[in-house]
Amino acid sequence: MEIAPGVYSIDQWKGGHVHAFLLDDGTDLTVIDTLFDTDAGRILDGIRNIGRSVDDLKHVVLTHAHRSHLGGLATLKRMSGATVYSHAWEADIVAGERTAQPVTPVPMRPLRTYWRVYYLQLGAALGRGKHTPCPVDATVEDGDTVGPVRVLHAPGHTPGHLAFWWPERRVLFAGDAIATYPVFEAGWPAFNLNPTQHRVSLRRMADLDADVLAVGHGDPITAGAAERLRSLVRGW
Ligand SMILES: [Zn+2]
Ligand SMILES: [Zn+2]
Repeated sequence: MEIAPGVYSIDQWKGGHVHAFLLDDGTDLTVIDTLFDTDAGRILDGIRNIGRSVDDLKHVVLTHAHRSHLGGLATLKRMSGATVYSHAWEADIVAGERTAQPVTPVPMRPLRTYWRVYYLQLGAALGRGKHTPCPVDATVEDGDTVGPVRVLHAPGHTPGHLAFWWPERRVLFAGDAIATYPVFEAGWPAFNLNPTQHRVSLRRMADLDADVLAVGHGDPITAGAAERLRSLVRGW
């Protein structure tokens, strides 16, 4: 689905209604996150569906190193030769040299909302669900540029969590700092490792005045995004 000119949302039910994003800046393709499946089939279909080839994929950039977002990474790298980017804190997890910081196994409340994603929480609590390791080619920091997007260091969910901002399209890619599934919220509560950092990250994202808000879990918000973001900040 095209959520803004040249911005395509690609989703998968597995991995918590997870989303990846394909960006076409008119020259090159950039992919943000890689869904759950290891064959990257949905992303490859997405590339074909817009009449482009996997050879046009030049950048694969990761919001963070959780399993649901790393599934297709090794396959995409092998097929495209694209440069893989993440924050330095996440890079050795992506490469398989370290496990992600565990989250609490205590179920999130209300249970009637969060039981749907408890299997993912338990996996993250126990360090289960390994991805296929893939080396990161380049680490990026706040203020860097990858393809058409600017990098925002947005820690809280994980220490090296990144968000991305495409200024010309006014699209914010918030990763897991914000979720719209199962409900619209400032990330899944049990997964926010550092609430103080998370609050600062939310404020910075709200200040951008985005038209479109794309998140890691759940459908994008394509209208009134800035106001929805500010409502989250008020709640924190
Ligand atoms: Zn995550
Ligand atoms: Zn996630």
